[in-house]
Amino acid sequence: MNDTLCTNVLSGLTTGIELTYLTAAALFIVGLKELGSPATARRGNIIAAVGMLLAMVATLLNQSVLNYEMILVAIIIGSIVGAITAQKVAMTDMPQMVGIFNGLGGAASALVAVGEFWRLLEAGGPIPFDATFIAILGVLIGGVTLTGSFLAFAKLQGLVSGSPVTFPLQQPFNATLFLSFVVGSVYLCLNPANPAIFFALVGISLVFGVLFVLPIGGGDMPVVISLLNSFSGLAASAAGFILMNNMLIVAGALVGASGIILTEIMCKAMNRSLLSVLFGAFGGASTASGGGSGSIGDKTIHSIDPEEGAMMLGYARSVVIVPGYGMAVAQAQHTVRDLANQLEKMGVEVKYAIHPVAGRMPGHMNVLLAEANVPYNQLYDMEDINPEFERTDVALVIGANDVVNPAARSDKSSPIYGMPILEVDKAHHTIVIKRGMSAGFAGVENDLFYDDKTVMLFGSAQEVVSKLVSEVKQL
Ligand code: NDP
Repeated sequence: MNDTLCTNVLSGLTTGIELTYLTAAALFIVGLKELGSPATARRGNIIAAVGMLLAMVATLLNQSVLNYEMILVAIIIGSIVGAITAQKVAMTDMPQMVGIFNGLGGAASALVAVGEFWRLLEAGGPIPFDATFIAILGVLIGGVTLTGSFLAFAKLQGLVSGSPVTFPLQQPFNATLFLSFVVGSVYLCLNPANPAIFFALVGISLVFGVLFVLPIGGGDMPVVISLLNSFSGLAASAAGFILMNNMLIVAGALVGASGIILTEIMCKAMNRSLLSVLFGAFGGASTASGGGSGSIGDKTIHSIDPEEGAMMLGYARSVVIVPGYGMAVAQAQHTVRDLANQLEKMGVEVKYAIHPVAGRMPGHMNVLLAEANVPYNQLYDMEDINPEFERTDVALVIGANDVVNPAARSDKSSPIYGMPILEVDKAHHTIVIKRGMSAGFAGVENDLFYDDKTVMLFGSAQEVVSKLVSEVKQL
């Protein structure tokens, strides 16, 4: 009687856990959908977090959990470290932080694969083919994600050189290593009781991660991190198959799919293929420097001071603000919002134009402007704002460069040719705020700065925009 009761309780618990997993998966999907727009992103984050909480609680109720004390210690340590780093990290360092998270996710999945394979070895019985195969897959994806993400972090953080690293006979070396991995995997699947081969495969996977990221330039790391994010999802899915946990399989697949979609969106917005990001060293060198009015070659720069800038802005009917990487570096978003508020008080219509790859990470400008409480209805996507520039009195470019470079439209020899841009050159006037004449991420010169309708307002964005705010107040 007692046994029957026990069996019923256990089967009820299992059904409850699976139903909770289903609810959590639905919440992840709704959360992801909401994350697609700045207006609903916060809600999306909370919905997905609730899904994750449900998934964790359900997993902890599973009877196969062996040691609650150790899990509790890990949760406490993880929560403290996570909360402190999330509080401290600067907006511009976000790609690095995501890189580390991906790496740790990959490490966790690889460790699950190693642990499970080890358990089967110790059990002494025959190890099934599918278990060996999935363990190899988990170790491969997890290992590549771990070392690849940590190297990407080191490149972005400047701990190692951001330049692409190549060495003689790199391709033959990679091919030989890959072949060894394949041969080793086939051998292990046929003769699983062979820990030496298994750990050799673990070692090769870790080396693969380094070799994958080494030849990629530091500027392209956000794309690589997005790709590695996708890998970390696949690694989690592989761990889900190893542990036979449906939640991990579904959540991993969602991360894998959304990571690859994001990678695709970033590549498209830069008009580059994923292959050119992974195998073509790109970006970096500046072409010119220094500020002030004058001539470079046969080109003339028109420079103004904040007082003149304030007059142009204050007496305009419509102003479109175009933020870029320089605004992020200068952390000028709050001051930019103050300027917009001031202009609106004077009856000027203010809009913000957001380029999908402005800055150095997807959604960089949206996040910064949301942090400064800029109303979402003032943010316009490239497709929506471009037709409006012809009717705009002043386009105010703040620390943006590549995303407003007309060469992308007209110069077939330019590395950014074909990249969709914000067409600020079509506005009646353009004011560009930047410190000097340095190039942007792509390392190419920008003819917009020499256009007759363009005036340069030199200085760091935070300082210049503050001056503009006080000058506009005095109009
Ligand atoms: P850019 O990198 O093209 O240009 C930024 C400009 O900001 C520079 O020319 C710099 O000029 C200026 N700047 C730097 N610091 C300051 C400061 N403190 N105050 C004022 N200006 C400053 O930026 P964009 O946003 O226009 O373009 C982003 C680029 O990054 C694109 O090429 C994109 O493809 C690439 N990219 C974007 C990714 C993403 O996910 N968003 C990922 C990978 C690459 P100066 O030094 O003269 O001040």
